[in-house]
Amino acid sequence: MRNFEDTYQHKGLRKKLIDVLRTKGIISELVLEAMYNVPRHFFLDSAFDKIAYEDRAFPIGADQTISQPYTVAYQTQLLNVHRSDKILEIGTGSAYQASILAEMGVWVYTIERQRKLYDDNKIFLFKCKYPNIKFFYGDGFEGLPTYAPFNKILITAAAPLVPPKLVQQLKTGGIMVLPVIEKDKQRMLRITKKEDGNYNEEWFDYFSFVPMLEGKNG
Ligand code: SAH
Repeated sequence: MRNFEDTYQHKGLRKKLIDVLRTKGIISELVLEAMYNVPRHFFLDSAFDKIAYEDRAFPIGADQTISQPYTVAYQTQLLNVHRSDKILEIGTGSAYQASILAEMGVWVYTIERQRKLYDDNKIFLFKCKYPNIKFFYGDGFEGLPTYAPFNKILITAAAPLVPPKLVQQLKTGGIMVLPVIEKDKQRMLRITKKEDGNYNEEWFDYFSFVPMLEGKNG
């Protein structure tokens, strides 16, 4: 069950969350505005209604989680989103991150490997608000060659390496943001594709994501 009412109380809690994100170092007003505009409790079971605006990850079924708001804001900020960007997201999950991107006016192509989560999104009414999101069931390591190239690629599960097929599907000058597994930790990486097909790397903070897994499930 979900609660699709967005009350003053929810809006107040969201405003507090935005203040928390600011104190943790998020400075992009575009990102903060999108996070204020998208009601996170719509993406969770109504049992989480009162705590949906705490800066925490929560379970969404199939052993997966909706990312912590700080993590969503951090990755979105690193993507340096421009209106009219075509963005590929790996790991749709609850579709919260996809909705934040869609709220910023971009085209979102999002892939999920868990059949159940993909099916749940098919009946998720809030997504009608964003005709600029396209949902796919598949393996993110393969990307979406038919729709490539993309201006930006965002991976929301911990990757063992930079997926080579995704680099191919990135435009020259395009950006990919992903958490990469380093021994027992995961570190945020941003790559920028160069004209010769290689890329520059910038390393950021450590995070905790569910793993990016090969193949489809279900
Ligand atoms: N962006 C999501 C966070 C989801 S958690 C949100 O906003 O809620 C990461 C998701 O990545 C999980 O749903 C998991 O099933 C999915 N995933 C893991 N490996 C994948 C792969 N190879 N291809 C597509 N999705 C994958």
